Amino acid sequence: MSQAREKKRQVQKFLGKVEIVIDRCKGCGFCVEFCPTAALELSSHFNVKGYHPPRVVDPDFCSGCGLCGLYCPDFAIYGHRVGPNPHFKKEGATTQGTNPEVESKETKR
Ligand code: SF4
Ligand code: SF4
Repeated sequence: MSQAREKKRQVQKFLGKVEIVIDRCKGCGFCVEFCPTAALELSSHFNVKGYHPPRVVDPDFCSGCGLCGLYCPDFAIYGHRVGPNPHFKKEGATTQGTNPEVESKETKR
């Protein structure tokens, strides 16, 4: 796994799932443009209307925020949360899951 992808998995607090109703899509690309985690891209395939619907780049990138569904003018996509991300790491945490700043303050007391 690339470093960038591994980092991305660690900063995302929740995992989500996105559902796409392919044949409702008109390929406007709003969902791709506004997805905050860049989980989507337009597919090279055509739907029944002759448009390129979105596809999920990597399921681990979806946080389930639901923004894609809010922006879609055709109700062709929606996302939902499935739970906490097991790979999430708090900023500044060590590999043991402790915060060095908190630890040093505690030992000074
Ligand atoms: S916003 Fe909706 S209609 Fe536009 S590309 Fe995404 S799924 Fe298709
Ligand atoms: S639910 Fe959020 S993170 Fe997932 S694809 Fe939609 S906009 Fe992107």
